[in-house]
Amino acid sequence: MNVTVFGTGYVGLVQGAILADVGHHVICVDVDAEKVQRLSRGEIPIYEPGLESLVKENFAAGRLEFTTDAEVGVKHAQVQFIAVGTPSDEDGSADLKYVLKVAQTIAEYMQCNQIIIDKSTVPVGTADKVKATVAEVLSARNRGDLNFDVVSNPEFLKEGSAVADCQRPDRIIIGTESETTVEVMRELYAPFNRNHDKVIVMDVKSAELTKYAANCMLATKISFMNEIANLSELLGADIEKVRQGIGSDPRIGYHFIYPGIGYGGSCFPKDVQALIRSANDIDFDAKLLKAVEARNQEQKTTLFTKINRHFEGKLKDKTFAIWGLSFKPNTDDMREAPSRVLMEALWQAGAKVQAFDPEAMEETQRIYGNRDNLMLCGTKEAVLKGADALVILTEWQSFRAPDFELIKSQLSEPVVFDGRNMFEPHRMHAKGFVYYSVGRQKR
Ligand code: NAD
Repeated sequence: MNVTVFGTGYVGLVQGAILADVGHHVICVDVDAEKVQRLSRGEIPIYEPGLESLVKENFAAGRLEFTTDAEVGVKHAQVQFIAVGTPSDEDGSADLKYVLKVAQTIAEYMQCNQIIIDKSTVPVGTADKVKATVAEVLSARNRGDLNFDVVSNPEFLKEGSAVADCQRPDRIIIGTESETTVEVMRELYAPFNRNHDKVIVMDVKSAELTKYAANCMLATKISFMNEIANLSELLGADIEKVRQGIGSDPRIGYHFIYPGIGYGGSCFPKDVQALIRSANDIDFDAKLLKAVEARNQEQKTTLFTKINRHFEGKLKDKTFAIWGLSFKPNTDDMREAPSRVLMEALWQAGAKVQAFDPEAMEETQRIYGNRDNLMLCGTKEAVLKGADALVILTEWQSFRAPDFELIKSQLSEPVVFDGRNMFEPHRMHAKGFVYYSVGRQKR
């Protein structure tokens, strides 16, 4: 099948690549000319395991192309994915300008009947707005004879395992009233739907809301655990024991109940905010979601509070070694990362940062540029030299079994602030560290 994907970010690029890999002929359109050039040279602008080889192989085979020319994209296929960003607007609502711009573009070049797929995460009612935008342009072109359907097909991939998630989706949500559209979508996704039927067909609004409900549920789990972790710390309990204790109940389960320093990334923060805003627009007070968000904002500051308390407020000219900058492992994404909140608070207090991340160094450099109080180091060992404490912000695999003697010998004081509970407090204590973690007692 010929397919066009608008947007070559985490969602569009991965989607385009996996569709090409099963034999569809995919053209990816992006307005970012530099990105398109890089992709056409085989350079992958983001870090996502397995993506580079997938893009290169399918590009070489001619099944995956990149262009800035929207006309070429629209004329290529009868199936058009919209996979552009939906960032938070100033009031927290989802900004639909990129989505609606693509809708307009598709309508400008449309020559035949089309299925337009909303892959971006968009509030309930967006498909109607896309429909209205397309209809308006078609009418201005006197092409009201062209038929089109707008289907909601939200994406559930996780950054860090995006390729695998798209190749083996848990579910394929199809929101449409049209049986013809369902049939085309089923054919499109057939290669990913072999083991058992993962397609769930529903009305458009329910599909749109499903995506927000999923992300808000996951964010709620995190904020809930963080709340219990904070309580646990104050009450003298151990959150890791509590986590195992509750996870053993199959109704709760072990997944996604890790305490930490708050959720980040491009999705949870903005999607929770957008649903709060959507609720507000219809005079519904989303009390629970507001609490989830508030807990998360506060959680991102908890490690700084511990650091500040430990050093009795004297952070000026102190140096902190930081392990992990991306908002979670296996990605270079720094959007809404807790590391940013912590580093900025340290800088504000006059401290310096020496940081390492296996993948997010370039992105950190891009965001913060060159500054006196940030030194990006090539290895996790190099950041330790002369630092006053080690701070762990992302649970990368390569941080799990470090050389503790080396850490101790390099730090001016053997103090570790661990935002991800990577180690056992009693072991850290036995090794001679002062060890702060989340939801457990200082050792
Ligand atoms: P992104 O910011 O990484 O990429 C968006 C891309 O769209 C950019 O390359 C941008 O240049 C391009 N773009 C903007 N306007 C365009 C236009 N008019 N024509 C063509 N391209 C255009 O975004 P992302 O992380 O891939 O997210 C895309 C959507 O998918 C968002 O709604 C997001 O909430 C949702 N989503 C993201 C994830 C995730 O983990 N990143 C997961 C599921 C859903």
